[in-house]
Order: sequence, then C-alpha cells, then structure tokens
Amino acid sequence: MTASGSTHPVFSFELFPPKTAEGMDKLKDEVARLQTLGPRYFSCTYGAGGSTRERTFETVTWLRQQGIETAPHLACIGSDAAEIRGIVTHYLEQGITRLVALRGDLPSGMGHTGNGTFRYANELVAFLRKEFGDHLHLEVAAYPEFHPQAPSAAADLANFKRKVEAGADAAITQYFYNPDGYFALVEECERLGLDLPIVPGIMPITNYTQLARFSDACGAEIPRWIRRRLEGFGDDRAAIRAFGHEVVLDLCDRLLAGGAPGLHFYTMNQATPTMRLWQDLRLPVPA
Ligand code: FAD
Repeated sequence: MTASGSTHPVFSFELFPPKTAEGMDKLKDEVARLQTLGPRYFSCTYGAGGSTRERTFETVTWLRQQGIETAPHLACIGSDAAEIRGIVTHYLEQGITRLVALRGDLPSGMGHTGNGTFRYANELVAFLRKEFGDHLHLEVAAYPEFHPQAPSAAADLANFKRKVEAGADAAITQYFYNPDGYFALVEECERLGLDLPIVPGIMPITNYTQLARFSDACGAEIPRWIRRRLEGFGDDRAAIRAFGHEVVLDLCDRLLAGGAPGLHFYTMNQATPTMRLWQDLRLPVPA
C-alpha cells in the first residue's frame, strides 16, 4: 500500500518546452525513450505571465498527437481569468483533463501580481473548479522544505490546506534530498485531514553548478554532505553523475519503501538519468 492508500504508484515525467527546433527534435527522441517505461503521464512546464505560452502549447500538442497522456502546467500569476479560461478550453478540446495548477514566479520587474486576476494557486484551483467542475484532475505543488516566501512553516501548511480545500486532487513536491521532510509533510497533512496523494518530485543529479543555482532559487536544500562530495568532484562530470545516481537511487528507494504514492521525475529533457534510476529501482517496464 502507498501513503495514499492506493496499491498502484503513479510515475510521471516532467519536461520543459524547448527554445529551438533542434531542442524540440532532441526532446522527441528523449520522450520516445522515456515512453518505453510506461509512465502514467508527461507534464510540461509553463512560464508565469505566459512567457513560454506558445512553446508549451507546441510541446503539449505534439505529446497529445503521440497519444501520450499529458498534464500541462498552468501558472496563473500575471494572467487574467479570460486568458486562463481560454487556455483550459483549448486543452480540453485536445482531450487533456489533467493540469498542474500553480501560481508561478513572475520575472523581476513585473510587480507582485503582474496585474493579473490571481494572487495564489488556491485562487486558480477554486476558479478552475468553478468553471470546469470535475472535468479536470488538478495537481498542485507541495513543499516539504517549505516555500521560500512563506513567513513560517505553519503558514505554508495553511496555504497548502487552502489549495487542497479549493479542489486539488493530488500534489507533486518540490525536489528534496532528505526524505524525512517529505514524510513529516505527509504526516502533517494526515493530521490536518488532507486526504490526497503527495507525490515526491525527484531531481536526478547530473550537473552540480546548475543544481546548486536552482536549489538556492527554489529553497530546496542540498544536504551538506552531498554538497561537499559533489564540490570535491570538480569538473569530473562522470564522477558527479555516478555519485548523484547512488544518492537519488537511495532516496527513491526509501520513499517507495515508506509508502510514497509514486514518483514525479524532473527529467530536464534528458532520458538517461531517469532511465537508469528506473532500471536500478526495478520498476516495471511494459512488455
Ligand atoms: P502558492 O501555492 O500560491 O504559494 C506561493 C507562496 O504564497 C507560498 O509561500 C505560500 O505559502 C504563499 N501563499 C499561498 N497562498 C497564500 C495566501 N492566500 N496568503 C498569503 N500567502 C499565501 N513555476 C512556473 O512558473 N512554471 C511551472 O511550470 C512550474 N512548475 C512547477 C511544478 C512543481 C511540481 C513545483 C513544486 C513547482 C513548479 N513551479 C513552476 C514553481 C512554482 O511556480 C513556484 O514555487 C512559485 O513560487 C509558487 O507556486 P505555487 O503554485 O506553489 O504557489
């Protein structure tokens, strides 16, 4: 049994929309490889304020044309209700019913809300439920190490509860490398009576400089012992990848053994690191 009470863990892969035609060609090859693992769905990120709008649409449309279950991310900050309604209607026309509903982060200089209708993800979830009823399966973000702008852990949990009560079906977490924070979040949610699957977000470790930059920005902690080991490898990319693989494999093992209801891999549009984890976790591959 998983923490959500289901016996079937859900595995999903996250992509970002490529900036170039070459990037799109490469993405198609990587998706074809990942698809052999039989994930439940692929998700595709969306830049707040519509900054990746057309590229996200293009990627999502291609995925749907391949018959792949697709969950577009939708970041509401900087958008108005009419725009959000239009985007979701367009997705429903393509047979898409699963969305990752987010606030997003506006690029600096666009103000706090960018003059949009929505300030927080709970407002987006409530709007989508009001407009589209139960036609949508809504995933929201959760933060085992807390969102960097939250004034306190308690306030962040209260905000998460608001999103769930607004109508979220499931949550995907920010990535982390210490499973204790994840299990503490799941326990806290159970205590608050929040009954939804909280799927850990898994970031493979392949490039230390990039990972350190991301982590500083999003508030995900790289434990000191991992940081120090990674720093020690310098430019030795193969050593970073080998060590990173063992760290993330152990993390995934512990999460699944502890009842996590699935894993959501931040693939960074690269199939190999996720495929190696899948293989070493001995996850099933369709015949
Ligand atoms: P919210 O849930 O609205 O929370 C944002 C902050 O506001 C938190 O500190 C929260 O505690 C606080 N808060 C919430 N409600 C209230 C309230 N009513 N009053 C006061 N404070 C409140 N970003 C993108 O731009 N595009 C993506 O595609 C994308 N995909 C993501 C996928 C996942 C799985 C995750 C975990 C994150 C993703 N992000 C993405 C990043 C995310 O948009 C940022 O972390 C953003 O800062 C918060 O988004 P949210 O939906 O969690 O916001």
